[in-house]
Amino acid sequence: MSGAGRYAPSPSGDLHLGNLRTALLAWLFARSTGRDVVLRVEDLDRVRPGAEQRQLADLAALGLDWDGPLVHQSERLQVYAEAVRRLDTEGLVYECFCSRREIREAPSAPHAPPGAYPGTCRDLRPDQVAARRRSRPPALRLRAGVDHLTVHDTLHGDVTGDVDDLVLVRNDGVPAYNLAVVVDDAASGIDQVVRGGDLLSSAPRQAYLATVLGLSPPTYVHVPLAVNADGQRLSKRDGAVTVADLAARGVGADEVRDLITASLGLPARPPRDLLAAFDPAALPRGPWIVAG
Ligand code: GLU
Repeated sequence: MSGAGRYAPSPSGDLHLGNLRTALLAWLFARSTGRDVVLRVEDLDRVRPGAEQRQLADLAALGLDWDGPLVHQSERLQVYAEAVRRLDTEGLVYECFCSRREIREAPSAPHAPPGAYPGTCRDLRPDQVAARRRSRPPALRLRAGVDHLTVHDTLHGDVTGDVDDLVLVRNDGVPAYNLAVVVDDAASGIDQVVRGGDLLSSAPRQAYLATVLGLSPPTYVHVPLAVNADGQRLSKRDGAVTVADLAARGVGADEVRDLITASLGLPARPPRDLLAAFDPAALPRGPWIVAG
């Protein structure tokens, strides 16, 4: 088996226990199937100085390693622009001048799923585009040819989700998350995407975008999130939830690792010693409740 899995943190702050658990799972899924592991820094947005270095150090302290050079999205702007150009030559890109508020308040298109882009700017005439450009820079959207798609997820089975005219490039010129992820996964030979369950609803959009770019969508594995005692997604406000917080309380990296493996029903061992017995079918399916 060749191919690769990946972990793709955003360097917006320190990784918390839920992020670290997802990273461990991505590593276990990839390595136990003979895949490489790519580490990609999603630094197009919200970068906090020093966060990337701390994230890498924390992953290494848990015993996770990766193959090949780190990928930085901020160094790949040309590649995203090229993908948009290719779609544009096929007539699949249009300029959108809507603000978030306009989208929220617009009547939804018939049959469109709630929250989907209503297509306000899809068929503007050239003179309308020219007029709107004078008041606001455009975002670029994909002219999607479907409104839903089914993807297969190893833990969730077949998942049907909405596809709309998703944003490819934001109106500040920054490539959108969905575009960057799809282009980068394919460029790195990634055929297995393991990530937090909060991104499950993005998978149909991303698989669709891959297809229109002529790329093969990966296998998806959306893993349960860590939550706080109130059932909300874990965040740094929930107490001692990062390697640094826990170290300040005298909890070493090995103990952090053991906390995470225990939450997965796995023995207290370094990741490489978990590979032989790793069984996705035995993983817990519910959220991990972390009392901070
Ligand atoms: N950078 C995203 C995050 O940290 C993950 C994106 C992905 O795995 O597709 O939540």
